[in-house]
Amino acid sequence: MTAEPLLSKALLRLKRRNYLVCAASLLAGAVMHCLLTRSFSMELILSQLVWSACLGLMGGGVGAGWLPPRLTGVLAGLVGLAAATVFVHLTGGAQSPYLPVFAALPFILAMFTPDSRLPTLVGGVATLGAVAFVDMLAGVSPLTMTLRVMGLGMLLLLALFGTRTYRRLGEAQRLAHQERLDMLEQLAESERRRRHAERERAEVDRLVLVGQLAAGVAHEVNNPLAYVKANLNYLEHEVRGEDLPRVREELLGVIAETQQGVLRIQQIVMDLRGFSRAGGYGEERGGVLEEALQEATRLASVRLRERGEVSLALDPGLPAVRLGQRHIVQVVLNLLLNAVDAVEMADSRCLAHIAVRAWRVEEGVRLEVDDNGPGIPPEVLPRLFEPFFTTKPPGKGTGLGLALCREFVSRSGGTLHAENRPGGGARFVLLLPLVEESRPVVV
Ligand code: ADP
Repeated sequence: MTAEPLLSKALLRLKRRNYLVCAASLLAGAVMHCLLTRSFSMELILSQLVWSACLGLMGGGVGAGWLPPRLTGVLAGLVGLAAATVFVHLTGGAQSPYLPVFAALPFILAMFTPDSRLPTLVGGVATLGAVAFVDMLAGVSPLTMTLRVMGLGMLLLLALFGTRTYRRLGEAQRLAHQERLDMLEQLAESERRRRHAERERAEVDRLVLVGQLAAGVAHEVNNPLAYVKANLNYLEHEVRGEDLPRVREELLGVIAETQQGVLRIQQIVMDLRGFSRAGGYGEERGGVLEEALQEATRLASVRLRERGEVSLALDPGLPAVRLGQRHIVQVVLNLLLNAVDAVEMADSRCLAHIAVRAWRVEEGVRLEVDDNGPGIPPEVLPRLFEPFFTTKPPGKGTGLGLALCREFVSRSGGTLHAENRPGGGARFVLLLPLVEESRPVVV
């Protein structure tokens, strides 16, 4: 810390104004005196001109930041004092009508450096000396002189008190400002933590979903792999045989089937890799529902296998929605897997029928996911979207899925709610606002 605190430009400008106002009043005082008394004193005008020029230069220097405000304040006080002494002396000394000007001097000094006690103290004490000096020259009695110095001393104390109040006020303001900054910093910090925790929760949920799919993946990949392998053996055998033209058509069919199997495996691996990768694709643009729903259905199919089916019914040409592509996949996949779980938990022999429908409405796109499970019990319904609320056995549910789904959807300006279908089973309804040009997509 330096003794001279760094002052803002606005404060320096304010200080400069003080100097200029004092310089102007010195000159104005001399001119007014000459005009009113109709006696032109060259001595008086010149001396006041010199003092006000000094003050003007000091003010310019302080305002530009070239001169240290505190030291210059002390000098300015002394210049003001000298100017007032000469003025009083040239206009009649102890009989001068301007004698009370001395009374105001401590305040003028305080005006130059309100943020420091020193200039007022030095200038004020010098004022007392000057008054005593003028009185001595004029042969004023010691008692009158003492009383006058005492009166001025009290004024000096008042001026010192004024600068102290100013300093305390400034300090209180600085503290309040600092407290505000600290609070803002704390707020920003807690917001950073909240976002971090949110990202971590989303990550956990995605990994849980990937884990849930993992068992199905092996089966899904194994199926096409088995017939790809069998087909390749068959092809090898046939190619080694002599009568290739005869079996040509059959071979082409086998090759097409093999290609399909390989494509299926490739698709499963691609979807799973895309989904399990943190911060994946499509975050910067709006989500295309058709693509996202097909991907979610493909991913869910590795878990569904022969336990049920998903039917998709989307209106053609649905516009892009504000919810990002990756989040649509995650939300719908959550709903599909929950539906399979619900059906399975109610009756393990029952096949799940899940219907996903989407169509254009006034607010954007309405998406409904219906299942043929047992529906949602009335006591569960109000708690469905609470984080960590689950009715599944330990190790199977985290209770994070629906809470996160709702968070993603509402951050994009949409809504997600659940209800029981009149005919039985649960229904999850999403209202997804469309991408607007002016608003960036939230993912
Ligand atoms: P988790 O699946 O880990 O339990 P969720 O937040 O996804 O967490 O689901 C919370 C609870 O909501 C589930 O435990 C279940 O009781 C209920 N639930 C979700 N989907 C359905 C559904 N389709 N049918 C009946 N209950 C459901």
